[in-house]
Amino acid sequence: MMKDLSHQTRPVNLILLGPPGAGKGTQAKILQDRFGLVQLSTGDMLRGAVAAGTAAGKAAKDVMDSGGLVSDDIVLAILRDRMAEPDCAAGVIFDGFPRTIAQAEALDALLADTDAQLDAVIELEVDDSALVQRILNRAEQARAAGQPVRADDNAETLGQRLAAYHAQTAPLIDYYAARGTLTKIPGMGDMDEIADALATIVKPLTTA
Ligand code: ADP
Repeated sequence: MMKDLSHQTRPVNLILLGPPGAGKGTQAKILQDRFGLVQLSTGDMLRGAVAAGTAAGKAAKDVMDSGGLVSDDIVLAILRDRMAEPDCAAGVIFDGFPRTIAQAEALDALLADTDAQLDAVIELEVDDSALVQRILNRAEQARAAGQPVRADDNAETLGQRLAAYHAQTAPLIDYYAARGTLTKIPGMGDMDEIADALATIVKPLTTA
């Protein structure tokens, strides 16, 4: 993928919204490579905290393994620390955050504190029926590559993750739609097509 930094004049902050398995992580990495934005995955940060055995990781582990949402306090503390690092000034892609209205409100405050703005919220629309297979494929690919399989990437836990998404995270769609920051794109197609659709939205923002 070609980098496209030639005309970048301002940092862009984006949220990728969508259910587990929608492809947020995959697309965030592509956007990171193309536009020099920093992927901020709260799921990755939490898995890092679990692996490192920090207090936050210990408190988060069982909730994550059962497919529920980690408390806003823990997630916000981890995110705040990460956003204070200098690389985030280049612009960030929030992947898996915010997941509750309270997190969205905290993000508004955090961005206001640093005089930063939220440029776009992009929802990847995927049918629930496709998600189970995607998650099971991800687990299978990790296994085949000799990589660790996520403890929550199984059919049982996925039901809980989808339920948490619909109950706690989907209300963010209306929250951002009401502010005019929401764009929806189909998340069902080919990975490269989705990446191009995202780039079409993001590129004008980086040069605005
Ligand atoms: P996915 O989107 O595929 O479910 P993530 O890596 O984003 O995967 O999240 C994995 C788990 O980490 C979630 O099921 C949840 O327990 C926890 N988690 C990640 N981000 C958040 C968040 N912003 N708020 C609460 N819990 C979170």
